[in-house]
Amino acid sequence: MKRIIYIPFDHLHRKFGALKDADSQSDVIAFVESARMTTGRNWHTERLFFLISSARHFAKSLEDEGFTVEYVKAATTVDGLKTIQKKHKALPITCAEPSSFRQYDQLKAFGVTFVPNDFFLTPRDLFTQWAEGQKSYLMENFYRAQRIRLGIMVEGNKPTGGSWNFDKENRLPPPKKYEGPAYLEHKRDEIDKEVAAELGHTMTTTWATTRKGALAQMKNFFDNHFAEFGPLEDAMTTDNWALHHSLLSPYINNNLIHPSEVIHAAVKAFNSGSVPIESAEGFIRQIIGWREYVNGMYWFLGPDYRENNHLNATRKLLPLFSDPSKTQMNCIKETVTDIQSRAWVHHIPRLMLLSNLALITGTNPQAFLDWMREVFIDASEWVMVPNVIGMGVHADGGQMMTKPYAAGGAYISRMSNYCKPCAYNPKLRTGETACPFTTLYWDFLDRHKETFAKNHRMSQQVFGLNRLSDLPELRERAQEVLAGFEKGQI
Ligand code: FAD
Ligand code: SF4
Repeated sequence: MKRIIYIPFDHLHRKFGALKDADSQSDVIAFVESARMTTGRNWHTERLFFLISSARHFAKSLEDEGFTVEYVKAATTVDGLKTIQKKHKALPITCAEPSSFRQYDQLKAFGVTFVPNDFFLTPRDLFTQWAEGQKSYLMENFYRAQRIRLGIMVEGNKPTGGSWNFDKENRLPPPKKYEGPAYLEHKRDEIDKEVAAELGHTMTTTWATTRKGALAQMKNFFDNHFAEFGPLEDAMTTDNWALHHSLLSPYINNNLIHPSEVIHAAVKAFNSGSVPIESAEGFIRQIIGWREYVNGMYWFLGPDYRENNHLNATRKLLPLFSDPSKTQMNCIKETVTDIQSRAWVHHIPRLMLLSNLALITGTNPQAFLDWMREVFIDASEWVMVPNVIGMGVHADGGQMMTKPYAAGGAYISRMSNYCKPCAYNPKLRTGETACPFTTLYWDFLDRHKETFAKNHRMSQQVFGLNRLSDLPELRERAQEVLAGFEKGQI
């Protein structure tokens, strides 16, 4: 044997990373299940189950291929690697560049050598080159450059269909009583059962833990959901938990599926003529635009970026985030309950409900980030940090987004069916039945009016404060709401 190839739990692809040129005659394959990963934090067990079971299935597939596979449990990754290295005569260890600053530094300090991380469509230095040439890091500009660079939905330098995006068509509210095609249920095997028993996890059938299952999920999306993805992508409804979202993020993030495989299938479906352009473009933007941009920004902005707190938000995490019985807000109760069942909700509840609430209540960004990291099936450092710190709670002062995504109950009422049965009224901003989102939205603008008045994209919203005749009552109600949150009574 000549070397040890270390496979982090998010590099599970045979054809990419350090495995791409692996040889069963000369390479030992190493996996480490570290205690930091399993018991280090209050992780959602669905998430742990998914990550560990996927890694064990993948390790088994390499063994079946004839590789010598070492799968060890240890206090830390480095401890595990030391054990494996001891057993294999101090062979050198190689790995694809890890996906977080922390793991990168730890493995480098231990002497692991890296091959380039090709689990994304955009090499890190190419993104840096793009970012360094920009005045502001607008995702839309990056996305257009990606379409041209990758040759996706373009004719020369012009967008197919005459427009770079079709957002206007993609903002429909949910239809009444919307069922839609059923989602896949994933069967469980002995490896799954073993992992679930170790974690004390009650298995669900929501997430696949094998490449075969992940590919079945992808096929199901393209066959049954892709055409309708766009128009309803921002809608929220209690009638259908996923609407037409792909549910592919966990598999692309742990690399049971490579993003190029998803894009290839999306372009093929679009070229077959069976998918409207607004759905195809909307979905492709998520993968070649948002996902690549977020990863690029994570590396570009550096390890200290996660500590930003531009708005000096100091509130502790609200009890309702971990216990839905601590709120009467129907939208939040439904969303947190969904997260407890499946470790997933789509981008609009993440942005316009959870992050919006953290933003307008002045919740500490790092406390909120930690919670988001723990509960989502697809949460990794590189993706959660920019999405929360930059997009969700504007803690970076606008380095990523030109304005904060703050909204009152009117937006949620328009885009969901949550408000009708709710104890609160989205139209009211004062009084006991006022929607907390509506009250706190105005209170947030009022508290930060000096900061936002300078932002030309926010000045109109801030100017709206002048029209409020009930500002003193609103400020009073906001204080009641914030105190009520702490007691779990709102
Ligand atoms: P679809 O709606 O079907 O979208 C297709 C794919 O596009 C996703 O699978 C994902 O790979 C990619 N994508 C879309 N938006 C983003 C984005 N903003 N950043 C990165 N990838 C994107 N996504 C994660 O994978 N992990 C996270 O921890 C995560 N945290 C988020 C936190 C906040 C505050 C917000 C606003 C978004 C976050 N997202 C995260 C992005 C997005 O919400 C999820 O990727 C999506 O909901 C996953 O479901 P899906 O696969 O059905 O996505
Ligand atoms: Fe949420 Fe307000 Fe609507 Fe209630 S009224 S569901 S709190 S947005």
